[in-house]
Amino acid sequence: MRQFAIVGSGPAGFYTAEALAKAYGEAARIDIIDRYPVPYGLIRFGVAPDHQSLKAVSKRYDAVADSAGVDFIGNVTVGRDVSVAELLELYDAVILATGAPHDRKLGIPGEDLPGVIGSAEFVGWYNGHPDFADLDPPLGGSHAVVIGNGNVALDCARILSKTQHEFEGSDIVNHALAALDDSAIRTVTILGRRGPHQIAMTPKELGELGHLEASVPIVDRADFPPESADAALEPGLRKSVTLLRGFASLPADKPKRMVFDFFARPVRIEGDGKAERIVVERTELDEKGGARGTGEMYEVPAALVISAIGYSTPPLDGVAYDERGTKFLNENGRIGDRLYAVGWARRGPSGTIGTNRPDGYEVAEQVAAALPPLEGEERGGAAGLKSLLRSRGVMATDYDDWRKIEESETANARPGSPREKFVRVEHMLGRLGR
Ligand SMILES: Cc1cc2nc3c(=O)[nH]c(=O)nc-3n(C[C@H](O)[C@H](O)[C@H](O)COP(=O)(O)OP(=O)(O)OC[C@H]3O[C@@H](n4cnc5c(N)ncnc54)[C@H](O)[C@@H]3O)c2cc1C
Repeated sequence: MRQFAIVGSGPAGFYTAEALAKAYGEAARIDIIDRYPVPYGLIRFGVAPDHQSLKAVSKRYDAVADSAGVDFIGNVTVGRDVSVAELLELYDAVILATGAPHDRKLGIPGEDLPGVIGSAEFVGWYNGHPDFADLDPPLGGSHAVVIGNGNVALDCARILSKTQHEFEGSDIVNHALAALDDSAIRTVTILGRRGPHQIAMTPKELGELGHLEASVPIVDRADFPPESADAALEPGLRKSVTLLRGFASLPADKPKRMVFDFFARPVRIEGDGKAERIVVERTELDEKGGARGTGEMYEVPAALVISAIGYSTPPLDGVAYDERGTKFLNENGRIGDRLYAVGWARRGPSGTIGTNRPDGYEVAEQVAAALPPLEGEERGGAAGLKSLLRSRGVMATDYDDWRKIEESETANARPGSPREKFVRVEHMLGRLGR
């Protein structure tokens, strides 16, 4: 029997497990290890709580977890509780599916001021991520700024702009719901270094903004190239640009505003001991389509600044790391002998949930080609790992624990919400009587 360890239980980890289970059938055991007692990575802690239909993809992963030969080992942080080298001793192959959970830094003065936070923190806060339960973002000012022109920036801006009523049916955590209800923010400015033709926002996410109860998107017509230029855009982007053009004719007749400020490069964040304003340089497109500063500076007030400019994968001891791309150094997913990477840890932080599927299948194919079913002596696998963890006092959890946690989250849900997430690992473990 082959023994495989997949580190990380997000989409990439689960698609890889699915592919390995198909390739080996009963000839392999697959352990999916995660630092939390509950799986699904960004499906649980990243995807917006008001986008429940997207989270339904986890049903497919449930089926993988339920299949014979696949197991979930939670509450184990690889790199702290057990090393990659130790996993390679215990398993025939180790597949790193650890994602890219860290915010990329802005690299401008003032970014360490209170009130400036990364999108991973803010998104984690409203999604019940244990690491960010205490974030307490400052929502007392009238202005917030979100830096970035991708879907994560839109998620952050939308969550800041919705009414309580619009969160019905979502699984936003109660502490965020209450804080957002008290929020004084009336204007959210979305800063993008380039123009409407360079956005990375998809039509579905943009389209929603035109129908918010209390907030209206504001776009300046002067930021657009002539409409004829849209014809050359890829269809998805063209649709997004058409939506943006439509926003320019919406009446600003709602109490809140979401202002798209294009050609705007953040220069520094200023304030008296906390963020109060952001200094921005007007830009223009250069010959290669990049942003070139014009020297014109202006200020945007902001008691809260959220940077949504991308993510990075933290390094793991002994694993080659691509400093530039902020992912593990790999060739088509292969890092080294019996060691692989999938998902954001392999490609860097881009692509949708579905992009991780071909990725996981491709790596599983490589594993299957390199490691045919085993006739001889087996490696230690899960039994060896659990015994090592016990000797270190690490309390690993299992599939049944995860299901018990989930059951009590469902049982505790506020009316209309699918669950009431436990926001700390201790709460989750406490639910198991530990
Ligand atoms: C805010 C946000 C919103 C998004 N919304 C959408 C959307 O609406 N639609 C869409 O298609 N895509 C969306 N995406 C993209 C999608 O979430 C990613 O493509 C996908 O989650 C990447 O999968 P992954 O498995 O590589 O990483 P992740 O989902 O991040 O999973 C990584 C897993 O590894 C675990 N882990 C990390 N380090 C360790 C360690 N040292 N030891 C043990 N376990 C570890 C983590 O706990 C986590 O469970 C969004 C992304 C973000 C950031």
